[in-house]
Amino acid sequence: MNLGTDVLIFGGGCAGLWLLDELRRSGLRVLLLESGAVGGTQTTGSQGILHGGTKYVLQGMFSASAGSVRDMPARWRASLAGTVEPDLSPIRFRSRHCYLWRSDSWQSFLGMVGAQAFLHVKPVPLPDAERPGLLTRCPGQVFRLDEEVIDTTSFAEVLAERNRGLILQIDPARGLEFQVLPTGRVAAVRIVEPHGSRELSIEVNQVVLAAGAGNAQLRSQVGLTENAMQRRPLHMVLVCGDLPLFNGHCIDGAKTRVTITADRDSQGRVVWQIGGQLAEDGVRLEPAEQIAHAQRELAAVLPGWKSAGLEWTTYRIDRAEARTADGSRPNDVQLLHENNVLTIWPTKLVLAPRMAQHAIEHLGVLNHSLGGLSEFHTALSELDWPAPALALPPWELQSTWISGS
Ligand SMILES: Cc1cc2nc3c(=O)[nH]c(=O)nc-3n(C[C@H](O)[C@H](O)[C@H](O)COP(=O)(O)OP(=O)(O)OC[C@H]3O[C@@H](n4cnc5c(N)ncnc54)[C@H](O)[C@@H]3O)c2cc1C
Repeated sequence: MNLGTDVLIFGGGCAGLWLLDELRRSGLRVLLLESGAVGGTQTTGSQGILHGGTKYVLQGMFSASAGSVRDMPARWRASLAGTVEPDLSPIRFRSRHCYLWRSDSWQSFLGMVGAQAFLHVKPVPLPDAERPGLLTRCPGQVFRLDEEVIDTTSFAEVLAERNRGLILQIDPARGLEFQVLPTGRVAAVRIVEPHGSRELSIEVNQVVLAAGAGNAQLRSQVGLTENAMQRRPLHMVLVCGDLPLFNGHCIDGAKTRVTITADRDSQGRVVWQIGGQLAEDGVRLEPAEQIAHAQRELAAVLPGWKSAGLEWTTYRIDRAEARTADGSRPNDVQLLHENNVLTIWPTKLVLAPRMAQHAIEHLGVLNHSLGGLSEFHTALSELDWPAPALALPPWELQSTWISGS
């Protein structure tokens, strides 16, 4: 069977899903192909914080990263309130705010000085009486930061539901083929039904690679260099048990020493997801060593904290981004437009709306559909191709939990 599209997107993480929604609402014939689960790898593996830039001004100066994200919390809030499309009002929040506190190091919090004026979401100093129990014994000022933490699984679910029928499951190991013209343009993509034998040939006007770490392989398949991408690994820690639902960053100089986000697992137990510098420093450690490292770090940054009776595990995950000269995080969303192939890396979940806006500007396809929309939707509903499942949060994927001391 053949199907004509205006835009074919690979990858159903935050970048692909947000763009799919924008293009569908613009009346284009758009499809998204997903090789794993919707919400994918980094998006459901992330901590879900809608950063407003505080992290990036800790050096006490304006940074390009802070500039790219500072308008994003307001943009997200409009969608989360349902006043601007995409209407994301059904999304579940993990928290409406984070706390910000400092460790006991001499350089801690120097970075906050003078930087806050630049931010739209400013840290609010908390009176001692309003500190959460966990932070009562912490040195120095504690702040509340009105940056929301979203449930990334429900984010993916809402966008998948809004675009039902437009997200197709593929198995790249079974028959994903690109028809590339001598000019380098991709003319068509052939896919084979997972667990089936039907074939679908999709004619394309523009292709968007929004497959996170999968972009390297896809780029090589369409004859583009894989070398445009970098991976920055993390070794995240999960701890579950009798814990408060607490979300916050402990700042140490210009670094976020520890970032904690919290949710409940499917059995109703509270799980903390622990990242920040701890997850970067722990990349070379074995899981048991990383857990011991996390226990020492939490004892240091949360004076009086008790770890008895908790269960621990870790997971490894790469941040997939456009390559930078020194291997550091790009300051903004990243796009490469070569022939009719646009490769995108949002760099952060919070930048997904900005990513979609920049991608649309590059594609130049709005109001330029090349075919009949109703025929496209009729063909798709008759096709009844399998849809991918929804990705699970990292704690639901872990089989081995270690009891802590
Ligand atoms: C541990 C961690 C914590 C983070 N915390 C935050 C945070 O708190 N706030 C924030 O703003 N950002 C955060 N980030 C960054 C953010 O998660 C990422 O920048 C963002 O999710 C990337 O989205 P994406 O859509 O590009 O990729 P992904 O979410 O990785 O999605 C890519 C999708 O492509 C699919 N795919 C792969 N190969 C193929 C193929 N060949 N064909 C079809 N589909 C394919 C995958 O299955 C996946 O579904 C964090 C990242 C990590 C790793």
